[in-house]
Amino acid sequence: MAVLGERGAVFQDPFDGNCFHQTLSLKVCDLSAENTACLMSLFPYTKPVALKKYPTTIGTGDRLGVAGPGHIRAVRPYRARPVLAQQSVRENTQTGRDFPAVVRAAAWAVFQEDYRGGYGADGDHLKSLDQISGALRAGVSMITLDLSEQLYPKAFQLSREAADREFLQAVPAVERQALTRLLGGREFRFAGRRGEFAIRFDPEAIARNALLFRRALEFTEEACRRVSSTAGAEGPADFEISVDETPFATSPESHLFFVLLLKERGIGIDSLAPRFVGEFQKGIDYRGDTEAFRDHFYRHSVIARHNGDYKISVHSGSDKFSVFPHIGEMAEGGLHVKTSGTSWLEAVRLIALRTPSLYRNMHRFALGKFEEASRLYEVTTDIRRVPPLESLQDRDLPALLDRDDSRQLLHLTYGFLLNAGEEGKSLFREGIDRALAGDEETYWALLEKHIGRHLDFLGVKRESATREEGER
Ligand code: ZN
Repeated sequence: MAVLGERGAVFQDPFDGNCFHQTLSLKVCDLSAENTACLMSLFPYTKPVALKKYPTTIGTGDRLGVAGPGHIRAVRPYRARPVLAQQSVRENTQTGRDFPAVVRAAAWAVFQEDYRGGYGADGDHLKSLDQISGALRAGVSMITLDLSEQLYPKAFQLSREAADREFLQAVPAVERQALTRLLGGREFRFAGRRGEFAIRFDPEAIARNALLFRRALEFTEEACRRVSSTAGAEGPADFEISVDETPFATSPESHLFFVLLLKERGIGIDSLAPRFVGEFQKGIDYRGDTEAFRDHFYRHSVIARHNGDYKISVHSGSDKFSVFPHIGEMAEGGLHVKTSGTSWLEAVRLIALRTPSLYRNMHRFALGKFEEASRLYEVTTDIRRVPPLESLQDRDLPALLDRDDSRQLLHLTYGFLLNAGEEGKSLFREGIDRALAGDEETYWALLEKHIGRHLDFLGVKRESATREEGER
């Protein structure tokens, strides 16, 4: 960043940097934490804000910290708001970053693009109160609480008798009675634009769901208190619950059970990420029964609208082009879609386009790490279907980013690629950073197109279209 002006004014301005004096004075500043704090206080729109009031939001996690301008250009034309910073603790470990650095990168991108629409920063998949506090201290405006370690999925694998027995043992009588009073014999009827449905809880469903969510409810309450007690001047951060990393799809019944009990405790949420039917693998299209997905998504969406009008959050949401139109159509209320690795893949595409030798080295290294990497994710990649590199001309390399198996190969191994090296010397990291910095406009153009395509397929309207409609 540079500050230019008359000598006295440049001296007085709060940024820290090196000054050069001619007729005017110039101060060249780095993007340090201190200068970012200055930036945020002088230009408040560079600070992340809660986005609960915007019905459509898209998370565009930026793993390398250089994608922000592309993400802003992609989202700006639409009636949507971006969550530019969105990292999990696992991602930060893989990329060697922390929450303050992630928020800083987003703030400077916002300043560079002069984007004043408001953006979010998401501490994604947080699993402890300490992680929540750390992310909030760094200025994030959204907390995604990951309940996977608090749930008890075995509750749905036990025999009927065993579930009843555990329910009697684990849940005190007063709580059991309260559950029966709240849910027993009642029918919860829902109506949305695409039809009606009803949910009933028989004693078995009550027992199983109570066991599934028992610890999760306690933990959510503690986390919610932590989030609201650290609320900034603009109010509390957005609070998302994620149960997407569970061994089975989240039934609409379980979703309803959980939010009704949250309501009993006076807890409101801003979004919920269920695990949907079918497969939401990283970086590739949806796999599964589209009709079943439509119905499943619709029910979750209607339940959310009737119980506090929170958003349904779609995790691993990148590249799900075959179901995006259904998601857009079936969403009754708010919608949040999280993407992340897909922007890394666009970076790899740029490298394949412009620095084929670096791409080939990365690809070969990724093949060697694939088995280890694939243990961390649920994927169906078959790397035997990836064509041998030697058979490809340089000009064929970018097309590897259009094929599922090679996409997943490069998606899953990103942490290995970024951390490869020895004795402090990285194998690829500097090459990657140089390639992106040297051709940033191309990278941003790729992102603008790719993320923009997501919004188009979701059916998100363009800002200009609405203005025109209004004028008419
Ligand atoms: Zn997730």
